[in-house]
Amino acid sequence: MVSVSAKLQEQLYPQFKLLLCFSIIILSFNQYLCAMQILDGILVSEHIKAQLKTEAAQLKAKGGKIPHLAAILVGNNPASEAYVGNKVKTCAELGFNSTLLRFDPSISEKDLVDQVKKLNEDDDVDGILVQLPLPDHISGDLIINTIDPAKDVDGFHPISQGKMMLGQPTFLPATPYGIMLMLEHYNIDVAGMNCVVIGRSNIVGTPMTILLSRNGKPGNATVTLCHSRTRNLKEITQKADLIVAAIGRPKFVTADMVREGAIIIDVGINRIDDATRKSGSRLVGDVDYDNVAPLCSYITPVPKGVGPMTICGLMKNTLEAAKLPKSKYN
Ligand code: NAP
Repeated sequence: MVSVSAKLQEQLYPQFKLLLCFSIIILSFNQYLCAMQILDGILVSEHIKAQLKTEAAQLKAKGGKIPHLAAILVGNNPASEAYVGNKVKTCAELGFNSTLLRFDPSISEKDLVDQVKKLNEDDDVDGILVQLPLPDHISGDLIINTIDPAKDVDGFHPISQGKMMLGQPTFLPATPYGIMLMLEHYNIDVAGMNCVVIGRSNIVGTPMTILLSRNGKPGNATVTLCHSRTRNLKEITQKADLIVAAIGRPKFVTADMVREGAIIIDVGINRIDDATRKSGSRLVGDVDYDNVAPLCSYITPVPKGVGPMTICGLMKNTLEAAKLPKSKYN
């Protein structure tokens, strides 16, 4: 009897080993899946847009103002066309009104200033958006500074930025605002975290630094702002609990720059060649997603990460702008 059992064991041993290996692979894969969570910009934005749609309908039902966003597009840069098109489409989806003003790239700076002033004076317009970049002969700063701060739904005006820095209520810049909404949605508490923001633009990196470090929720993080003159960037990012990449360079943040368990927010939108695609190209972020994602606790994909959240930030600001008193409606 003993010898039969031993023989059986001997026969089954290779199958047992195979089963064990297979289980280990499944468990490791499961652990990988559980360890990393994608911060899904589409899912979160759909959730926020549903709330905004309801709120806009309630406002209208009470005889309030239908939010109205006016967008200015100069020239026909394909990326700008796509961004503005998405914003106009989202307005329609939410029951907001929108106006798209298109201008030839030869428009003079003075004429564009006059167009912005006209929108400032139009009581039916709640929010004004000027799609950047503008042609070289037009000062972006001058045009942004001309927008009435009460209609600055992109949050780029110096008054909006100044109030944000002082922690006063204002329109927050749409992209960092969208990222904060995303962190809030996933209950990611950044308080006390060591956050690293790469990129110091006025529309993404710098405001992101202020919002992450402010005394609020989400907030209270310790933030390092890096840029092209930062020394030993890798040493800094390797210590980060959370990295915001807003550089504009495809796959700039590589796996060796990221510590295990870090949270990655990829703001970059870069078009690279891809012969396998019908279009011959595809969008990638500033993070080397394929190699970085397995290390992370959370990561935003590109596309479908920060992009949809930026539109949410803009739409939330537009709804708030519609609630502000306007002389015609007082
Ligand atoms: P930007 O104005 O060109 O700023 C880029 C920043 O990256 C600068 O501060 C620059 O430093 C820094 N940088 C460049 N090379 C670097 C290097 N080697 N090491 C460290 N820092 C470096 O760009 P942006 O407007 O902030 O946009 C950044 C990216 O986000 C772009 O891909 C853009 O398309 C994308 N974006 C996406 C959204 C969205 O909704 N998803 C919204 C806005 C922008 P210096 O200041 O020293 O030059």
